Amino acid sequence: MVEPQVESKFAPPLVNCVQCGGMLPQGLGEIECVLCGALCRVSHQPTVDALTKETVQCPHCMIAVEAGTDQRPVSLNCEACSGSFTLSRKLVKVEIQCPSCEANLRIRPRPGKRELNCPACNNPFNVSF
Ligand SMILES: [Zn+2]
Ligand SMILES: [Zn+2]
Ligand SMILES: [Zn+2]
Repeated sequence: MVEPQVESKFAPPLVNCVQCGGMLPQGLGEIECVLCGALCRVSHQPTVDALTKETVQCPHCMIAVEAGTDQRPVSLNCEACSGSFTLSRKLVKVEIQCPSCEANLRIRPRPGKRELNCPACNNPFNVSF
């Protein structure tokens, strides 16, 4: 049986590499820039606090379970029903605008440059983070 997954409500803020200004992979701690290889220290105490104190509903018995850690994903055990489940990372999306038709698109940001096809007008355009 696959453990049920619950998505976390909090995510670390998106930060830029101190060296090249590109977007860093999301996370906290020592994060390596995928664009230039620089090691950047990302710390954000409000996020750490929010993640540690986050309570989620056990998918088995619906009782509130406290995460108790800022690690995501993390496997949690419900004390009430002893069921286990995975508390996964929040998937962050950003809104961008198509330069041709100005449609708003929600995409998952990834470091670097890539080409997207606008689903509304089918025109390709480049985005970089
Ligand atoms: Zn960099
Ligand atoms: Zn439970
Ligand atoms: Zn478009």
